[in-house]
Amino acid sequence: MNIIVCIKQVPDTSEISIDPETNTLVREGVPSIINPYDENAIEAALQLKEEYGGTVTALSMGPPQAEEALRQALAMGCDDAVLISDRALAGSDTLATSYVLAEAIQKIGGYDLVICGKQAFDGDTAQVGPGIAEQLGIPQATYAMEVKVDGKKMQVKRLLAGSFETIEMKLPALITADKHMNVPRHAGLRGVMAARKKEIPTWTLEDIQADPEKCGLSGSPTTVVEIFPPQRSSFLTSCVRHNCSKWPAEFSR
Ligand SMILES: Cc1cc2nc3c(=O)[nH]c(=O)nc-3n(C[C@H](O)[C@H](O)[C@H](O)COP(=O)(O)OP(=O)(O)OC[C@H]3O[C@@H](n4cnc5c(N)ncnc54)[C@H](O)[C@@H]3O)c2cc1C
Repeated sequence: MNIIVCIKQVPDTSEISIDPETNTLVREGVPSIINPYDENAIEAALQLKEEYGGTVTALSMGPPQAEEALRQALAMGCDDAVLISDRALAGSDTLATSYVLAEAIQKIGGYDLVICGKQAFDGDTAQVGPGIAEQLGIPQATYAMEVKVDGKKMQVKRLLAGSFETIEMKLPALITADKHMNVPRHAGLRGVMAARKKEIPTWTLEDIQADPEKCGLSGSPTTVVEIFPPQRSSFLTSCVRHNCSKWPAEFSR
């Protein structure tokens, strides 16, 4: 079973800053981690490989520093890793990101299953997994909790709001991993050492033969108009800050 896992490197901080000019994330100087749901995606892929054989390839689109996340995926046990990095990708929205990842998946080829995380901790849209499936024209199951493979078919137990749903779909397919799916393994020292020696190819848009008009800002139909922290009620904030000295009696009951 050949599996491709899409992983996104996200900032490891709650202090995410936004470029006021472009309304995009400022990534310089911010420590980064693998998006936590993507660790569940990697773990699911490694467990399937252990059960059915095959290979696991980690795929990321991002700046050159995203190679660190891919190296961590290799250290966990992935066989190969590919980075898509190109200045022309700056400003890509979820549609453009899905398109580029789908093109890269087609270039890797020979896959039975694509696994994404349920959502990214920073962008948080949960659109990229379904977007990739749509671009590839393959079935998809989001919020996966359990998977069983039966020849060229797969059963997926999905976590919905207050219930479960089990669906069957043909392979190749795409699933997005929920955090309840598994407990991601830690990379052992041997894995870390082996990962250091692995070649991670970096592909540009030309390498994956992507249409530049469908990438970056020009390929992104959505625009971030404004990003701001949610406003607190100034009165309630003041009550909390000043030890509730002005807290109205009716609120204390
Ligand atoms: C108009 C616009 C402009 C933007 N400009 C920028 C920008 O300049 N710089 C910037 O950093 N962000 C930018 N973004 C954010 C960027 O579009 C998202 O980070 C990206 O599309 C992924 O969306 P998400 O974070 O919501 O991922 P989700 O859809 O929540 O992610 C779900 C899953 O998809 C996979 N996935 C998501 N992204 C990647 C990836 N890059 N590589 C591999 N797998 C992935 C992972 O498995 C992840 O768990 C912009 C967004 C918009 C709308």
